Amino acid sequence: MHQHFFRTYQQAREHFIKACCDFKGELTSIKHPEQGPDGDIFMDIGCFGDKSAQRVVVISSGTHGVEGYTGSGIQSLLLHEGLHARLPAGTRLLMVHGVNPYGFAWQRRTNESNIDLNRNFISFEKAPVNKGYREIADVFEPKSWNADTEISLINEVREFVKNKGLEWYQSALSSGQYEFPGGMFYGGLEPAWSNLTIRQVAMDYLQNTEEIIWIDVHTALGPFGTAECIVDYHPTSKAYRRSVELWGDRVKSMLSGDSHSAPIAGSMISGLQKTYPTIVGAGLEFGTVPGRDVVLALVADQWLHQYGNPASPEAAPIKDMMMDAFYPDSDEWRESIVVIARDVVDQALAS
Ligand SMILES: [Zn+2]
Repeated sequence: MHQHFFRTYQQAREHFIKACCDFKGELTSIKHPEQGPDGDIFMDIGCFGDKSAQRVVVISSGTHGVEGYTGSGIQSLLLHEGLHARLPAGTRLLMVHGVNPYGFAWQRRTNESNIDLNRNFISFEKAPVNKGYREIADVFEPKSWNADTEISLINEVREFVKNKGLEWYQSALSSGQYEFPGGMFYGGLEPAWSNLTIRQVAMDYLQNTEEIIWIDVHTALGPFGTAECIVDYHPTSKAYRRSVELWGDRVKSMLSGDSHSAPIAGSMISGLQKTYPTIVGAGLEFGTVPGRDVVLALVADQWLHQYGNPASPEAAPIKDMMMDAFYPDSDEWRESIVVIARDVVDQALAS
């Protein structure tokens, strides 16, 4: 199992591409305009099974860049276990590797413009306003990063939670904001490269389908080694009922307060769903480390790319924090997420 989980983008990508070729997938690679630390970067699409099948299972990785190490490992592992060979009649499989290859390669959650892709699929003429974020923006964009900044950040967060409540803080921080380009969970002012490119992929592969089951792999929300299928469907909606039919009580709606995620604006699945209403999609979210460590890693990384130098030695400890937060190097963790991933994909195939 370990042989499928890598710690550089190039290795993860080469392994995925080899699996696509070895297992007779049709591979399409779309080059990103920027470079990773080791050269060119791509969104890679592997297509398996009968092209005329009306039902498609999509498994995507790296919407949040650094989370792609986990998603890629799962994609390659499932192919090596023969997923492509046991597709039911009438179902095909699409694997999208590196939705945000820039963040994947540079071990960032965001893209080349500090955009959180899962906040980028909105209608830009009426971008949501996040008033809460205005109150916390300064704290989450420090001009320096050292042990003191870390302590003061932790204290400030404690104060926000004490004064305004945990729910307010989570929503202010993570629901998405469109006013602070150097800040956290920034959704951008226009569709990003990955947004336009995944829409093109959808046009090429997902037209005229009866049902599209979309599993977008994420990490770093929830307890270590556990998972939620996070949906942004209202609990009374048809799509919600269908997702529960597929994944049972693993389904958590961010609209009902069940999920570890606050309600967010502009997720990829919600954006694509407007064009492809037959999508039933979930963020398969694997828990890693406590939220505090995730936030510290994100703020440090934000500082590094905004005010520091990602190509200098000061980057290494911060990138270690990012990898520990989003991709724990732990056998126990890998073993438990792999069991869940197999189960969630099998459920998507079976129903
Ligand atoms: Zn994510």
